[in-house]
Order: sequence, then structure tokens, then C-alpha cells
Amino acid sequence: IKTIGVLTSGGDAPGMNAAIRAVVRTGIYNNLRVMGIKRGYAGLLQKEIMEMDVTSVGETIQRGGTILQTARCPEFVTLEGQKQAAEICHEMGIDAVVVIGGDGSYKGARALSHQGIAVVGIPGTIDLDIACTEYTIGFDTAVNTAMEAIDKVRDTSSSHERCSIIEVMGRNAGYIALWCGIANGAEDILLPEKFDGDEQRIIDNIIANRKKGKQHHIIINAEGIGDSNGMAKRIEAATGIETRATILGYMQRGGSPTCKDRVFASTMGALAVDLLVQGKINRIIAYKDGEYINLDIDEALEMQKNISEYQYKISRILAK
Ligand code: ADP
Repeated sequence: IKTIGVLTSGGDAPGMNAAIRAVVRTGIYNNLRVMGIKRGYAGLLQKEIMEMDVTSVGETIQRGGTILQTARCPEFVTLEGQKQAAEICHEMGIDAVVVIGGDGSYKGARALSHQGIAVVGIPGTIDLDIACTEYTIGFDTAVNTAMEAIDKVRDTSSSHERCSIIEVMGRNAGYIALWCGIANGAEDILLPEKFDGDEQRIIDNIIANRKKGKQHHIIINAEGIGDSNGMAKRIEAATGIETRATILGYMQRGGSPTCKDRVFASTMGALAVDLLVQGKINRIIAYKDGEYINLDIDEALEMQKNISEYQYKISRILAK
């Protein structure tokens, strides 16, 4: 392997720049040429590719988002698109591509590997919803951003003795909601993995808490459940307690990455290049049981994970 490409794909996440920077600088350290591919697979198909050097990633480690930009690319899901992408890689002399993104992006990477281009995947998503790993780039920043925002909503919620529903991101997974629920001491946490739609239970809980003298009632709702405004209206009608919904939205995806995201992303970026240098291809970098590991891409894509039952259980106990 002489030349590697690097791209970010799917949703952006804080820390992606630290990963790109590590890929570029570790690549150059190992005498490889490194090509930056803009806008994920879309940019690859459009040949938006430029050579990167150590200075092209300067001043980026502290920046949110991704300097390479990202996109979703339906064209690349077709075999024709994948063949064309591989041809472009051959034409540009790219032997391997480091893909920073989520499960969808890994499926794309696997498709590219079937066309003869070596790939390594790095987990990049704020949602933590990649089965093979306990860490994904951006989650730590996102939960810290959400946690701080929820603290602020709580201040006003307590002052006005309101009920607050705060909707956090996470797509179909409840990791952000669960972590914020624990970190913010939320009275209720609604996770797509757990919530059966029983709003009466929430209403009973609000009334019971009010009787106990709690001044506020914070409900963290996950994006995968949604309908926070509708829920607020129904809860207010049933309890007579003023209830407001706050949807945190994209603020959770932006901002300067935390120390953890910078260090993990830097390590994973360097590891991706180390694997390629060792001739280990078509692997996914992951973090499990306190260690950085790498898995075969097929094996990684077959894995399943779920939120921690124990964490969910204690989140209920601690909110009493
Ligand atoms: P994420 O990587 O965050 O899961 P997406 O699911 O949106 O994000 O996937 C990002 C991109 O990866 C898609 O726009 C598409 O180009 C590519 N991709 C997703 N699924 C596949 C697939 N089954 N085969 C090939 N490419 C795919």
C-alpha cells in the first residue's frame, strides 16, 4: 500500500477532525501518500479528491464537524456506483480507504472492498449505535453538550415548577438519552429500546412526584420515540401541570470535541494506518473492555448490541 484515501460519511461528529488528522500524519510518517476525499462516497464519485500534507490538518484538532465534509450518497448503494468508485480509486492510485462513519458507511466500505479496494473503518457517530464498539467518536462531546443544556432547562423548570420533556438525539438508539438521563438525574427516561408507549405510567409518576414535593419533573425523550410536543400537550391536559417540550436538535452534533473524543479519535486514526501498514485490510477499529481492537468488517457488521440493562435499572432507582 502506497497511497491511502480518507473520508467521513454519514452524520458528522465532533472528533472526526482529530481522526482525519491522525490518519494524515500517521500516513505521512509511514511514507504513504494521503488523499482527502470530500463529502464521503458522494465526493469519491465526483472525484473531489486532494492530496493532504501535515499542514493541511493543522488547526483542526479543536474543531467540530469534519473538514472533509460528509454526505449521504444513494448512488453509492448501487453496484454500478461501487464499481465506478473503485475505478476512480485505481485511477487516482488510491490502494486503501479509511472510512470514518457509522454502520451505513461500513456497508459502503465493505462494498468497496468487494471491488478490490482495501478499507479500514473507524467508528464515527454521536449516537453510539455501532454494535462492535463501546466507544464512537463524538458521543462524549454530544452527551456533555446535551447534559449542560438539560441542566439549564432544569433551572427554569424548577423555578416555574414545570414538567419538562427534553428530546435528545440518537436516531433509533437510546444511548444519549440513557447517559443524559443518569447524568442529569431525570425523573423519566424514554428509550426506543424500552418505551412501550404507556404515557399513563409517566403521568402517574409526575403526580406521585409532585405529591412528594419535587419541584420539577424532567423527562428525557429519545429522538427514536419523538413526538415530544404532542406528549407535552397530553401530559399537561392529564396532570394540570404546565409541561414544555425542548428539542435539543443539531446543537448536540456540533462544537469543539472533548478531550476524550480528541484522544480516542487520534488513537483510532493512527491505528487505522498502522493496520494498513501491517497489511491488515478490511477491518473495523473498535474499543472494547478497555482496549482498542480490530475486527473483520463482515464480523463487525453482523454484531448486535443493546443498552445496558444494569444502567437502565439503576437510572430508575436513582431517580426516585
Ligand atoms: P452512517 O454511516 O452514519 O450509518 P448512513 O447510514 O447514512 O450513515 O450511510 C452513509 C452512506 O454510506 C450512505 O449514504 C451510502 O452512500 C453508504 N451506504 C449505506 N448503506 C450502504 C449499503 N448497504 N451499501 C453500500 N453503501 C451504503
